Amino acid sequence: MTAPLPALPAKIHPLVRAFLDSRDAVEDTVVRFGSPVHLVFPQVYAENLTRFRAVLDLQVSHYRICYAHKVNQSRAFVRTAEHAGVAIDVASPQELGSAIGAGFDATRIEVTGPKGEAFLRQLIDRGVTINVDNLWELGRIAELAGDRTKVPVLLRVSGFDAASASRFGVPLAHLDRAFDLLSASRSRIAFLGFAFHIDSGEPAERIRAIDACLALVEQAYDHGLTPSVLNIGGGFRQVFTADADRFDGYVLALREALLGRGAQMSWGNNTFGYHVDGGAVHGIPVFHKYANTVPATTMLADLLAAPLERHGGRTVAQVAGDNMLELWLEPGKALVDHAGVTVAKVEFVKELADGTVVVNLDISRDLVTPADQEVMVDPIVLSGNGHRPDAHVGHATVTPLRPVGDTATTPPPMPESGPVAVYFAGRLCLERDLITNHKVWLPQRPQPGDLVVFPNTGAYHMDLSAATASMHPVPTKLAVTHHAGSFQACRDGDYEPPVPVGLPPHPSAARGPHRSPVLRQVSHADNDGAP
Ligand SMILES: *Cc1c(COP(=O)(O)O)cnc(C)c1O
Repeated sequence: MTAPLPALPAKIHPLVRAFLDSRDAVEDTVVRFGSPVHLVFPQVYAENLTRFRAVLDLQVSHYRICYAHKVNQSRAFVRTAEHAGVAIDVASPQELGSAIGAGFDATRIEVTGPKGEAFLRQLIDRGVTINVDNLWELGRIAELAGDRTKVPVLLRVSGFDAASASRFGVPLAHLDRAFDLLSASRSRIAFLGFAFHIDSGEPAERIRAIDACLALVEQAYDHGLTPSVLNIGGGFRQVFTADADRFDGYVLALREALLGRGAQMSWGNNTFGYHVDGGAVHGIPVFHKYANTVPATTMLADLLAAPLERHGGRTVAQVAGDNMLELWLEPGKALVDHAGVTVAKVEFVKELADGTVVVNLDISRDLVTPADQEVMVDPIVLSGNGHRPDAHVGHATVTPLRPVGDTATTPPPMPESGPVAVYFAGRLCLERDLITNHKVWLPQRPQPGDLVVFPNTGAYHMDLSAATASMHPVPTKLAVTHHAGSFQACRDGDYEPPVPVGLPPHPSAARGPHRSPVLRQVSHADNDGAP
């Protein structure tokens, strides 16, 4: 018996797995649209949303989900969110335009992040909800707001933990100034409530923040304000790994290798954020998110059910209800988890002087991961059979091509066979454009023309850091759906959610104020009186 090879098996959604297993579907997509491509799966997104809602429905009577647009530029995801009747969280004029273009009206748009003067003016004009980042913003809103309609405002708060500073939000210590501004501007600002966003997997941190915000609600009442919203932000985790034990095993071997024990597993001097010191490996690696095994829905359910000491042990959900607070959430990555993959192609395989095997792809690192992170799930190589090295199908080719046909010849098989450890490298003329800085074990050596699938790239991987270095265009983004037994791909921008047979179109498709029975949201007008 030989030990299994080090591996980082990726969790794959059954729909995505079915797509990858139907080789014709993948290859047809690449023949039609070229390589590389980003694929988004709106049906998986819709399923994630349904699960999120199911958790909330069990515990919370009034809530609002604001999909955090910044996680992916995909219009298909934004359309799916709009169609499903949730709200959206945008963080730039362009994201605002995207939301409006996808059918969101002002009552379903919330704007977070730092905003400059011009953007603030635009937001006030539009009547969207402004999640205020700092006192300058709040002051400018008070000055710019007219007397006709009140500007709906949330106040983002930070500084719950003195040890970890945040550049966002109004520090708890400055809240007196915020209260003064808000109560002096009551005729022009509709103060909805408090917000925070922390990207932590540690439940206690979020509970502490909620507790602090509840205390602020009481203080707000003392200032004559009537907050009705508690916005707990996003940060609900993804599960990348299909096998936590193998993941741990790989990481253990990697740490050993960093100490010089066993075969080398990393490119150059890479330590992935670990500190190697005194014969030991310390610290938290840049890839720690891949170790998570708790699904976002479990994290959310546990948070809602967490008892609050200061409130006689009543749960977060109960205390929100007791205080007539509508719970707002801003999930990003949790909604796109497993709803996207990136497909690239092997250009050539190269051997270095020391025998290291480098698989060169037609993609760069920034198209599958933010530069400072490391992708810790194995790419899937769709090798051999049927797939030809069709060098003429580049990413500039966007129109359907006729099948490549018999003109392409298959190169003679490389002599090497059996498992091989490789690094994946990118297409840029930069030493650092390695797609993996850790070794990936493949069942066999890839061939030019083989397709390589990067799993679960929907959240922040595809386009948060993507650049057009060397004038390479960014990859085409396609929406892939499964319908009537087969897969269809269309350009992301052309995707339309299906209207269920026998049901009238969703009310949000019509003009006028949106009121979703599922969302059960309180519109801003309601905050002034009616229940
Ligand atoms: C990025 C961001 C989110 C989304 O975070 P996820 O971790 O993707 O859920 C939500 N709210 C704010 C303010 C953000 O900046």
